[in-house]
Amino acid sequence: MVYQFDGLEPKTPFIWMPVTVEEAIDLKKQFGIEAEFASGATLLQLQWMNGRKMAQHLISLEQISSLKEVKLKNNVLSIGALTTLGSYQNNSLIKENVILCNALKTIAAPAVRNRGTIGGNVMGGIGDLIPLLLAMEAKLYIQGPNSSIIVDLWDWLQNKQITGNELLVKIELPVEVNEKTCFSFYRKIGRRETFTAAILTVSGKIKWDEKGVLNIVRLAVGGGDNEPKRLEKTEQLLNGKTGEEINWKAVYSSITNEFNAVEDSFISSEYRKKIAANLIVAELKSKLTISSQGEGHIYEI
Ligand SMILES: Cc1cc2nc3c(=O)[nH]c(=O)nc-3n(C[C@H](O)[C@H](O)[C@H](O)COP(=O)(O)OP(=O)(O)OC[C@H]3O[C@@H](n4cnc5c(N)ncnc54)[C@H](O)[C@@H]3O)c2cc1C
Repeated sequence: MVYQFDGLEPKTPFIWMPVTVEEAIDLKKQFGIEAEFASGATLLQLQWMNGRKMAQHLISLEQISSLKEVKLKNNVLSIGALTTLGSYQNNSLIKENVILCNALKTIAAPAVRNRGTIGGNVMGGIGDLIPLLLAMEAKLYIQGPNSSIIVDLWDWLQNKQITGNELLVKIELPVEVNEKTCFSFYRKIGRRETFTAAILTVSGKIKWDEKGVLNIVRLAVGGGDNEPKRLEKTEQLLNGKTGEEINWKAVYSSITNEFNAVEDSFISSEYRKKIAANLIVAELKSKLTISSQGEGHIYEI
């Protein structure tokens, strides 16, 4: 392990470069609140520019090669926390995951995507990827000072089972094998098409049985300054129903009730709620509308 220190500038942080997860955790334990993990440091950079105080010790995770591994085993895609946002360009396993690639492409711009990481997006707490990962039933593998846990992302976000000493090692995503009975979507809305902060991000995943009855429904919102959230009450309105049985007005109004959208000088909370409801309902209806050509309960796939 090495560290760099600029002796001419007393406020420059110590930058530690551990090469194993254990070393990184030990450093965090040693320096406590005076230390912070840094992956690509792109979010940290934004926060520093906005006045956040830089930690005295930065623990760069860049040299920990095990955090860069991407693997597919037993239909679970395991994504090392240090995998860059731009990995959709060169990692074959990430490339195969179409919805993940589409989401990654909506974040920042190429230069930021080459440094910024998927782990940093999650651990920053408000990244655009979080709604997608919530909808995809992602699990986090988190290493703490004394133990490691695998935790459902939504449980982790709700319970805040993190003290700042833990390190995100990898994210596990189940991969769908039967895409004919499953549909996923991700949409990011910004003020312009690219390189823009999100007004909001929505994502969802539904699965249905041979009779067209929904048996898995996961819907999530977030992005920008919106707190990432699973829309569990809305999910309940859909679960166990066929497309025909869904009360779309109730679904729309449930989304607007559940989403705690932020308000700023440009866009009201009400407007964000409407966009979220419109997007989610439109995406779901695109799959759950009975085909006019088909016999009986045939869904457009
Ligand atoms: C110009 C610009 C545009 C941007 N646009 C977007 C955008 O459109 N959408 C978006 O979501 N984000 C955007 N960002 C923010 C940022 O680039 C992304 O969120 C990125 O994924 C953060 O990853 P990082 O590796 O740089 O995180 P870092 O900045 O290194 O870390 C972010 C936070 O996570 C913690 N952390 C990082 N890795 C770990 C780990 N493995 N374990 C524990 N804690 C960890 C850090 O301590 C820090 O608190 C933008 C940033 C810039 C500079």
